[in-house]
Amino acid sequence: MRAVTVTPGVPNSLRLVHDHPEPPAEEGAILVEALAVGICGTDHEIIAGDYGEAPPGASTLVLGHESLGRVLEDPGGTLQPGDLVAGIVRHPDPVPCPNCAIGEWDMCRNGRYTEHGIKELPGFARDRWRVQPRFAVGLDPALAPVGVLLEPTAVVAKAWDHIERIGARAEWQPQTVLVTGAGPIGLLAALLATQRGFSVHVLDRATTGPKPGLVRALGATYHTESVAQLDFDPDVIVECTGAPVVVLDAMCKAGPTGIICLTGVSSGGRRIDFDAGALNRELVLENHVVFGSVNANRRHWGLAAEALARADPAWLSSLITRRVPVEAYTEAYASTPDDIKVVLDFTA
Ligand SMILES: [Zn+2]
Repeated sequence: MRAVTVTPGVPNSLRLVHDHPEPPAEEGAILVEALAVGICGTDHEIIAGDYGEAPPGASTLVLGHESLGRVLEDPGGTLQPGDLVAGIVRHPDPVPCPNCAIGEWDMCRNGRYTEHGIKELPGFARDRWRVQPRFAVGLDPALAPVGVLLEPTAVVAKAWDHIERIGARAEWQPQTVLVTGAGPIGLLAALLATQRGFSVHVLDRATTGPKPGLVRALGATYHTESVAQLDFDPDVIVECTGAPVVVLDAMCKAGPTGIICLTGVSSGGRRIDFDAGALNRELVLENHVVFGSVNANRRHWGLAAEALARADPAWLSSLITRRVPVEAYTEAYASTPDDIKVVLDFTA
């Protein structure tokens, strides 16, 4: 069968192999036929050789952590043949740490978790894969065209879950939300904010392309000025760029008792002259919380499936700006300026 692979650590080792072995039974009882795999910045980092680990004893890693498939067989009967399914990316560490022990592997304490298509587990960019029932998430059949967005939606469902848990430290009635970055994560974070009834603002550099229209279609306001130039102080900021200046501006911009959730990963190595004392003063005197959020556990995947089912299918579909047949995989992994989400299509 076909699989998209890389040799981790070797730049530009991306290949489509046609004789990849069928998924072994140990991978899980549920056999799945791949429909689509979404591509994100992590895939590009792995292809560049900056990130990623092959399974123990292997030299190559099957790519793909944003999955959508159709069940071929589930002997346990959790899912039925034909059901839509996505595979949870992260698996708990083998120790396990206190968080992994209770299924909160997104909060793993020892770093020994594994991840499909990223860290020591084969990814979903292959014609067939297997999954254990506890890592399989069933989707509403109506989500077939957009269910591949479940993984990035799970990431923002976790971010919102933690924002709300932090907000519950005191009386909390947020009204305005700022999302920085209008890529897939930013747009989905904005979607979940509008579903909560907040006044939502999204900031991005792009003045052309699909981003401004996608934001307005949510009923949110699109901004291209800097965070510091905004004429309001948001109650919640979801930072999705990882750009150092935007991150620092966001940390200084929230209103009283503001919550600033960082989801973007910076590359590091860039130094900025910055008044750390002024930031500290602001954080203390305004009871601000700045926190990082990554990955998602099973509960968040369930919340994400609910959020997608409630969203406008046409809007979700317009996030997928290119669907590329797997045979043309090199085009899929070459990003273009107007891409929001590019998807490898395994049905073509
Ligand atoms: Zn752990």
